[in-house]
Amino acid sequence: MSTLTELATRLNAGEASSVELCQDYLARIATHNPTLNAFITVDADKTLAEARAADAQRAAGHAGPLTGVPIAHKDIFCTEGWRTTCGSKMLANFVSPYDAHVIHQFKAAGMPSLGKLNMDEFAMGSSNETSFFGPVKNPWDTAAVPGGSSGGSAAAVAAGLCPVATATDTGGSIRQPAALCGITGIKPSYGRVSRYGMIAFASSLDQGGVMARSAADCALALSVMTGHDPRDSTSLERPAEDYTRDLNRPLAGLRIGLPQEFFAAGMAPDVAAAVEAALTEYRKLGATTVEVSLPNSSLSVPVYYVLAPAEASSNLSRFDGVRYGHRTAEYADLTEMYEKTRAEGCGAEVERRSLIGAYVLSHGYYDAYYIQAQKIRRLIANDFTEAFKVCDVIMGPTTPTTAFNLGEKADDPVQMYLSDIYTIAVNLAGLPGMSVPCGLGRNGRPIGLQIIGDYFAEAKMLNCAHQYQLATDWHTRVPGGF
Ligand code: GLN
Repeated sequence: MSTLTELATRLNAGEASSVELCQDYLARIATHNPTLNAFITVDADKTLAEARAADAQRAAGHAGPLTGVPIAHKDIFCTEGWRTTCGSKMLANFVSPYDAHVIHQFKAAGMPSLGKLNMDEFAMGSSNETSFFGPVKNPWDTAAVPGGSSGGSAAAVAAGLCPVATATDTGGSIRQPAALCGITGIKPSYGRVSRYGMIAFASSLDQGGVMARSAADCALALSVMTGHDPRDSTSLERPAEDYTRDLNRPLAGLRIGLPQEFFAAGMAPDVAAAVEAALTEYRKLGATTVEVSLPNSSLSVPVYYVLAPAEASSNLSRFDGVRYGHRTAEYADLTEMYEKTRAEGCGAEVERRSLIGAYVLSHGYYDAYYIQAQKIRRLIANDFTEAFKVCDVIMGPTTPTTAFNLGEKADDPVQMYLSDIYTIAVNLAGLPGMSVPCGLGRNGRPIGLQIIGDYFAEAKMLNCAHQYQLATDWHTRVPGGF
């Protein structure tokens, strides 16, 4: 399976055209997607038209570093002319009249789209089982979930159906599926990637990012995505960055913080052993480790499940059957139209979150739940600020276990919510986080190491991940049959 750099080199050397690369990936998608269900929408004509345009751009001497290299997009990003479903029946036939900022950036870089990737409905989930379009299978073991909500992105990259994919992370949806599918994924600092045209779940937590086969590839793709966008009021006024700039720095003297709360009970023994082995590797590379404490992190799951549903219930009120998306066929009056439209258009998890959100924002409970959760959110962020006084990056497991089986947690929301126990605090604080493959568990399923940086430390995190990947080969492992 090729990296972005390898694909770009072949294009530059004239060994392959973008059309040929896209045809190869489309053939792999045709072979494997019926099993994996990673893509919701594939349209070879559109892909090849974009590839021909990229080849023409190159022929005219206007190629950038990634011109002609294909990418695939999580179906949460609005794409002009391509259907954008967000994994929901509500938007099953929705075609956006405009491109999300992120899509615009990749188009401007000349990267043709291979299609739209499956995801949990409105990005609510940790297993990709809430998608209206059916679950995604984990390429390492099709009995296992790929993680969620960006499960289509993770499975597609892991199976070599695309070399890189966009994804989003509200509570872990880039890092957790990256870990469960054995690939590399990064969620940048909040505000770094424009949310314009990225269908909103919980606006104060949602952040776009990328998944690829290596940290070096993530660095290349992330460099395309970031930068200020005036159309998103939370987009920070910082210029775009070259995230490859520090990849080759030696790690001597790096201080790695190990949160004692992440290494307490709850982590499966095989995950603990793989993370420990990765830390040993970092010490060999010249890093030192120091224990840090995130005393309020145990509250991050309950805090998240007050705040994220609150924001979701507000954001999803736009899906009312009036403006766009699904509308019920028969109704007597407006109220019945709303009720039937939403009942038909939204799955159980989305309904659950809308109800919780409306409840915690209601007059009688706002102070008790919503305001209280906001206060604890601040304490959680402060814990990280304290920790970063004594370390450069924080490391630990991405998930407590390897991928669980399809159906195993589907009927138990609380168990499902706990799969994000190590990732959610990062979103609450707005920090950047990533996951890199660091081993295989007892059942042969991948394990991820989480790297958390201070605000805007993406280049440093990618440096840490890249140096580890130069010294180890976990990121080069490919699931059998792909
Ligand atoms: N699993 C978490 C949830 O269901 C996080 C989802 C996400 O990051 N989009 O909310």
